[in-house]
Amino acid sequence: MTTARHDVPDADPFTRPYWEAAERGRLLIRRCAGCGRAHHYPREFCPHCWGEDVRWEEASGRATLYTWSTVHRNDLPPFRDRTPYVAAVVDLAEGPRMMTELVECAPDGLWAGMPLRVTYRDGKPVFRPGGRAGS
Ligand code: ZN
Repeated sequence: MTTARHDVPDADPFTRPYWEAAERGRLLIRRCAGCGRAHHYPREFCPHCWGEDVRWEEASGRATLYTWSTVHRNDLPPFRDRTPYVAAVVDLAEGPRMMTELVECAPDGLWAGMPLRVTYRDGKPVFRPGGRAGS
């Protein structure tokens, strides 16, 4: 019997490239050829102008911290075994805002605008502090 996971969405054919890239340590975003803006999570249509000419693009993995909260209790696996953890919203360097999780960080040492770098855990993109020039 397998334990259901609640942190990785079921990959449908459309989002499969995103999860396959994450397995290889790459973060994909979608960019609209019509208006030039990027978005996340992946959508088939541009959420800014409704354009259909939207393509996959590899993100730099750089982001800044927008907001966060420390989660002390979550009964859904696998979170149950990880509390406390830091749930966060980050602004990717390419523009899109992304819900994620912070790792390798001290919850007391976080600040809005903090530079972050993407990293991967169990094939899922999460973020850690870092990303200053040269790193
Ligand atoms: Zn667009």
